[in-house]
Amino acid sequence: MIPFNVPLVYGTEKEHVLKAIASHKLCGDGFYTKRCNEWIESRTGVRKALLTTSGTHALEMAAMLIDIQPGDEVIMPSFTFSSTANAFVLRGARIVFVDIRPDTMNIDENLIEKAITPRTKAICVVHYAGVACNMDKIMKIAKKKRLFVIEDAAQAVMSTYKGKALGSIGDIGCFSFHETKNYNMGEGGALLLKEERFLERAEIIREKGTNRSKFYRGAVDKYTWVDFGSSYLPSELNAAFLWGQLENADVINQNRLRSWGLYYELLKDLEEAGLLELPHIPQECQHNAHMFYIKMPNNEQRDDLIRYLKEKGVTAVFHYVPLHSAPAGLSFGRFFGQDIYTTAHSERLLRLPMYYGLKEEDIEFVVNCIKEFVYSLDSVKYGYYREKAQVF
Ligand SMILES: *Cc1c(COP(=O)(O)O)cnc(C)c1O
Repeated sequence: MIPFNVPLVYGTEKEHVLKAIASHKLCGDGFYTKRCNEWIESRTGVRKALLTTSGTHALEMAAMLIDIQPGDEVIMPSFTFSSTANAFVLRGARIVFVDIRPDTMNIDENLIEKAITPRTKAICVVHYAGVACNMDKIMKIAKKKRLFVIEDAAQAVMSTYKGKALGSIGDIGCFSFHETKNYNMGEGGALLLKEERFLERAEIIREKGTNRSKFYRGAVDKYTWVDFGSSYLPSELNAAFLWGQLENADVINQNRLRSWGLYYELLKDLEEAGLLELPHIPQECQHNAHMFYIKMPNNEQRDDLIRYLKEKGVTAVFHYVPLHSAPAGLSFGRFFGQDIYTTAHSERLLRLPMYYGLKEEDIEFVVNCIKEFVYSLDSVKYGYYREKAQVF
């Protein structure tokens, strides 16, 4: 049996969790939270990173910090997780979904400008599979139109665009440390602030609307309720667990990249034969092997392959029913322009098992199953398959 994901436990987490317990400081913002924040700051170059209770909560904080008001519009891809949209919907925003590029499954930067209206307040980009959006173009549009750029970099810890860390390019970046991501603390995330201007308010929102962080630094002599806010600090236990992984981030990243490279190498001839499509990594992007996906020629073959792999003990999954066609998407947003790629390509996409420590022989087994499947298609159910496949 080859699972789709094995949540990472590197081995060093326990030692840190035990130390956190022994310190008798278990609530947020202790020794380990600070270490994790500093690690993110030094790796990404942002002015301030704050661990949060989830990637979802980091996005919610971002929406509060840029002061989203009812009726504001936020542009984003429809091919993403519900949290990307919810964060802004919770503040009363309308979501304007824009089509994706078929090569990276990221928002099509060339469609953004036309989707802007006088109500547009922000663009929320999603770096799908840890591969960067075209940030040069997007930042240029945002500057010209005076819009905020929020990076949903939930999948993109350790990824870069032209050498810059994802999450550090837009006004605010959001990481996830959910157990399905490359580095995890069970549930968790981080808010990344490039500039000073959001810092004080971010600390307040994260600390139940109080200036407690300032009080602890000795900057004020009492702490009080100063703004709206919530509780977005993770416990020290979770931060200690995460630290065990962040201190080994390079080894973990290399291991994932090796698995990704092997999948790519072994599946290349199928792509060359026109039987499936592999992910495209633009020249200026260094990715983090968050996922390995393939695209089958159509939805029926994708679903059949999932079933075939399941019979062989391999769990492969698809995801993202495009948000604009989901029940909540219909009421909270609208699709701008034509949906040429979002639905069509999401229906063809299949994610293969990917996790730290995935064995080479398991990758070979998965690839062999895929090969059996596509070659057997010729004769039986999909006599037309190969010819058709040449089209894309
Ligand atoms: C995982 C993920 C999130 C949410 O992160 P959580 O930590 O699970 O709340 C948001 N956006 C994207 C694109 C994600 O992949």
